[in-house]
Amino acid sequence: MNSLSDKLKDAIRDVQDFPKKGIVFKDITPILSDATLMSDITNFLAVVYQNQEIDAIAGIESRGFIFGPLIAQSLGIPFIPIRKSGKLPYKTISQSYALEYGEASLEIHTDAIKKGSKVLIHDDLLATGGTASAASELIKRIGGKIAGYTFLIELGFLEGRKQIQSYTEGNIHSIVVY
Ligand code: AMP
Repeated sequence: MNSLSDKLKDAIRDVQDFPKKGIVFKDITPILSDATLMSDITNFLAVVYQNQEIDAIAGIESRGFIFGPLIAQSLGIPFIPIRKSGKLPYKTISQSYALEYGEASLEIHTDAIKKGSKVLIHDDLLATGGTASAASELIKRIGGKIAGYTFLIELGFLEGRKQIQSYTEGNIHSIVVY
């Protein structure tokens, strides 16, 4: 029987030159039309973290909002949205980070977690690690601890893992690594 990693690899669609020339975009939308695969992924990631006393899962907009809430619900813990600038309605803090060209920023509600909470950060894909690092800074600034990271996909050749491992003593799980 195929492993979950093989099933995921079969479902992920490579889209050449999106959103710009030279980028191979890892399209996860085919996964979303396979309900069995959706629950296999959720169960797999929930099992990895079920004995680690995680207090909350923070998902990064927007593809971190697909599996983040499913994993949180499966573990019976809160889901915290980390959003792009200007989207969250209540009091926020903001963290800028570098993109290939220019800058972007992420925001979180200041009351999103209780001080000292252990937070697992989730996104669909780890590339250079800039996005996950910015999310980590936000969690730290509102008093949380980074319990670990979970991604569906890791682009290993971009070495994003190196950017984030100091936050969490290497507790980083990806289902598929390219
Ligand atoms: P990075 O900050 O470089 O680690 O980029 C990670 C963020 O960009 C994630 O939110 C991903 O969804 C998105 N991303 C970066 N590269 C790709 C790619 N090749 N395919 C799909 N999404 C990507």
